[in-house]
Amino acid sequence: MSARYVDIIIDISHEAIDRTFQYEVPLALQESVSIGTQVRIPFGKGNRLRTGYVIGMGEEPRWAVDKIKPVHSIVENRLPVEGQLIRLAAWIKETYGSTMYQALTTVMPVKRKVKPVEMKTLQLAVNKEEGRLRLLEYQRKNSRAKVRLLEALLQHGEIPMELAKNKLNISPSTLQRLKEEGTIDILSQTKYRQAGTRRHMAEPEPELNPEQRKLVEEFRNDYLEGKENTYLLHGVTGSGKTEVYMHAIDVVVQQGQQAIVLIPEIALTFQTVMRFRRHFGDRIALLHSRLNAGERYDQFQRIRNGEADIVIGPRSALFAPCTDLGLIIIDEEQESSYKSDNVPKYHTRETAIQRASMSGASVILGSATPSLDSYYRAEQGRYVLWELKERANKGTLPQVEVVDLREELKQGNRSRFSFRLQELIGSRLKAGEQTMIFMNRRGYSSFVSCRSCGEVVRCPHCQVSLTYHDHHSEHPKLLCHYCGYTEPYIRKCKACGSTLIGRFGSGTQMVEAELKEQFPEARILRMDADTTKGKEGHEEILSAFGEGEADILVGTQMIVKGHDFPNVTLVGILAADLSLHSQDYMAGERTFDLLTQAAGRAGRGDRPGTVVIQTYDPEHYVIETAARQDYAAFYENEMAYRRILKYPPVCQMLAVLITAEKETVSERAAAWLKDKLCRYLEEKNRETSMQVIGPGIPMIAKIKDIYRRILYIKAEETASLAEAREQLEQWASSAETAEEWKLYFDLNPMKGY
Ligand code: ADP
Ligand code: ZN
Ligand code: ZN
Repeated sequence: MSARYVDIIIDISHEAIDRTFQYEVPLALQESVSIGTQVRIPFGKGNRLRTGYVIGMGEEPRWAVDKIKPVHSIVENRLPVEGQLIRLAAWIKETYGSTMYQALTTVMPVKRKVKPVEMKTLQLAVNKEEGRLRLLEYQRKNSRAKVRLLEALLQHGEIPMELAKNKLNISPSTLQRLKEEGTIDILSQTKYRQAGTRRHMAEPEPELNPEQRKLVEEFRNDYLEGKENTYLLHGVTGSGKTEVYMHAIDVVVQQGQQAIVLIPEIALTFQTVMRFRRHFGDRIALLHSRLNAGERYDQFQRIRNGEADIVIGPRSALFAPCTDLGLIIIDEEQESSYKSDNVPKYHTRETAIQRASMSGASVILGSATPSLDSYYRAEQGRYVLWELKERANKGTLPQVEVVDLREELKQGNRSRFSFRLQELIGSRLKAGEQTMIFMNRRGYSSFVSCRSCGEVVRCPHCQVSLTYHDHHSEHPKLLCHYCGYTEPYIRKCKACGSTLIGRFGSGTQMVEAELKEQFPEARILRMDADTTKGKEGHEEILSAFGEGEADILVGTQMIVKGHDFPNVTLVGILAADLSLHSQDYMAGERTFDLLTQAAGRAGRGDRPGTVVIQTYDPEHYVIETAARQDYAAFYENEMAYRRILKYPPVCQMLAVLITAEKETVSERAAAWLKDKLCRYLEEKNRETSMQVIGPGIPMIAKIKDIYRRILYIKAEETASLAEAREQLEQWASSAETAEEWKLYFDLNPMKGY
């Protein structure tokens, strides 16, 4: 692609990227200039030559032609990392829909000068024997913070001060006291380096087992042959995926290249970070949500300068300025937090694969319950499928029991806990073992189901559950959020005639209260959005539970991911089907993931675990396959449903959100757009391969007095959707009422609207 004019940015700091300057490209350079190219341009009054980057191209001058200066030359070099990121931004803009400015602010680091913080490291000042004695002492005195730190030091040998503060919640005064007591040393970076890394103190890492080794070897061979693959590592919880990641990174780092490891924020625990730290020492740059912009930038600089080879962090770490990237790892690749909530609504997995292909790197996606999308691609041979079928540390997978709540009801049990679960909780309390009670929050009180037969009221056209709406009216109705279908709400089950039909809902607080009543002796911790205000709450509750300060932990999805509590031998899942009936096509996939992850919490130590799944719908394929922990069977069933209804990954789907201050405006605009789209598809003979659904009323029909309507477009290729999106944008900007409404896009949405 060549162009006469280019938009240039001179300073690539976050604050300056909206200042672009248009230049003309001399004919001789037109073939070699593209997005991301670094160029020399005359700048300012004196026309001093400066370096800038091309971020846009076009045929139209925006100024008087004689005011536009020509590009001086192209900086002959391979594309610098900034150029690569600019190119990635352009791809994001085109794929997901946004302005170039929005895309650039997504990929460009915020540059902010901070005074460099000195990295400090904590170590035991006494030997291990003495350390254990002091630990006992602190336990006796119930000094929780000291216990936490000492246990971690005994296990890991040494800990970066930053992690002790931010991940273990140890206050500076506690550190000072421990230092004065002579229990710990606080070493500055230089002292630490001189002393060498005293890793002999830490517990040794496990040797890879033959299955793990085979995968790492395969990666090594592919990598050294220059193959750039995407691997999907499907491994049951505890199968040793993290060890595989670390050894694959070793391969890349040994060749002088860098790696990015993406982990969902919630699973970025102290334990996980310390495992990487133990393996790679201070060659890692850690990004987490508690860093401020300056600290974040500092970490990015360490990567840029090659001081660190490995970046670990949540989705935004994908944009770390690695100058020589060899590998990107995405752990728990099915997580919905990998989809950005803000415009551009990019998916981290797809964007990572794009970045990898731009810089010649490989990608490893890991999960116990891969996204349908990834497994589908693996099946098609686009990804290399790797499987780890057993737990690495000889642990057995937990035994799963399904309890039919309809039977419980018949037997007169109106408690939230089945008789079986009550019995098991009692036995765990006696044995001094821990229990996790997981409450499925999704779909809370919005769908309508029959407590006698389990029937859920669904849309006849879309197969999603209908949602209850009353709006304080006398005639509440049920509504489909996909297509707009409605029917009156009648308190009688269509399947069995029972009147025990109603809306569903129960909160963690109520669960906790009921537990207290039934087990007055139990110590209970609760974790939900209320008890975890601020990030501290979250880690604090988990570490308290890990330290055995409670017998039972009650929580929502938050307690499910990535935490390792060896003393937990029972997991109870209340109303497992709740999330099955939330209003979007991914409900089944998400529920299977949640159930499998929740089950995976039981029996992580040397004692076997039991999982109780309570449900009104025990025959549902999601519940059945999750109980058997049979991903393949789940996949077959779920794919059959996606094929019939043409949902991703079989199809690509674009959600088009229309918003306006006046409800009638949003309604008319949506209908108008649909009409234009249908005619456009007809003209292009595409009405068979593309489908427009809606307009429907989103689940949240109004946010802050802005009304919303939604359209869905399905197509086989994302390219056709990008084309449709551009059309929609054009129509929207030329509409008579253009000022009164707005358009938003979400490609392959991971949530219901
Ligand atoms: P995953 O990431 O698949 O959940 P992890 O890598 O966290 O699994 O491993 C689970 C547990 O098994 C960890 O405690 C880890 O130290 C241990 N482990 C991993 N690989 C091995 C191995 N080859 N031998 C013994 N233990 C292992
Ligand atoms: Zn419908
Ligand atoms: Zn019924």
